[in-house]
Amino acid sequence: EHTINQIAAGEVVERPASVVKELIENSIDARASAITVEIKDGGISLIRITDNGVGIPKDQVTTAFLRHTTSKIYKVEDLNHIDSLGFRGEALASIAAVSQLEMITKVVGDVTGKRVEIHGGQLKAEQEIGCPEGTTLIVKNLFYNVPARKKFLKKPSTEGSYISDIVYKTALGHPEVSFKYINNNSIVFHTSGNNDLRNAVFNVYGKEVIKKMISIEEENNNLKITGLIGKPEVNRANRSYENFYINGRYIKSKILESAVEEAYKTLLPINKFPVVVLHIYIDPNKIDVNVHPTKMEVRFRDEEEIYYFVVESIRKNLKQEDL
Ligand code: ADP
Ligand code: MG
Repeated sequence: EHTINQIAAGEVVERPASVVKELIENSIDARASAITVEIKDGGISLIRITDNGVGIPKDQVTTAFLRHTTSKIYKVEDLNHIDSLGFRGEALASIAAVSQLEMITKVVGDVTGKRVEIHGGQLKAEQEIGCPEGTTLIVKNLFYNVPARKKFLKKPSTEGSYISDIVYKTALGHPEVSFKYINNNSIVFHTSGNNDLRNAVFNVYGKEVIKKMISIEEENNNLKITGLIGKPEVNRANRSYENFYINGRYIKSKILESAVEEAYKTLLPINKFPVVVLHIYIDPNKIDVNVHPTKMEVRFRDEEEIYYFVVESIRKNLKQEDL
């Protein structure tokens, strides 16, 4: 049973960044307004996520670590019609199977909370304790009991950059949540949570970038786009500053990348990429989402429509700036 858990865990937990992604999603689902993400050594030795969300009732803490105990499949439905929900309700169980994990949680209004320690899927300690409302997950020594997977990890700085990418993108996708990100004891950024995208971009990408970002808002019968697009002089050597959200969720999309790059084509030096934070709203019936634990991909039923809408929206707003 132990071995099965470890193998299955590989589906969800590919690397430290997948742990961070799952835990942040849980915090957001728990309606946290403040989330702190702390990592050490690229998340290999330590990942600590603290939220002020609804917490887990004491009598449900251990069951949260069993597979397929999720009660929130409906949450994903606001996005689409999903083919595979197989991994839902597996994150905590999978992470606990391949790490030394500690959880401290308290429900709003309760006098005491609960602390559990689980090593390699085995419950090591369980106690009632005083703690703040919300949930803290501490994940230490990822893959300590799965050497084959541990060997496969890249160096801490590379694993850390994968985590940073996820934390940056989630913070930009949720300006209504205050994110604090701490990497090897230093604060990387701290967003206000005031639901102000400009402020989030300022905190995440810095003053030089936000000065060069233009607000965009366009809408037709089927589609709406809002967000911030960088003037051409703010550009990057890779695509990691192209941020796309569909109906509020971060996704990867080749179509959106190529639409954005088409709009900037004549404006950017070769091999340079724009900085954009784009929220797109679309009827969920017009997309198919393939939700895999390690990625979020979307297929648009009408690719041409979305492509030209994005190209035209960006061109129009860049032109208005008189570049
Ligand atoms: P899923 O998120 O798909 O339900 P998980 O394994 O990620 O599955 O989490 C299991 C359950 O534990 C969740 O359904 C939720 O009830 C609870 N949970 C996990 N993380 C948190 C959190 N940060 N705050 C409150 N509840 C949480
Ligand atoms: Mg989850």
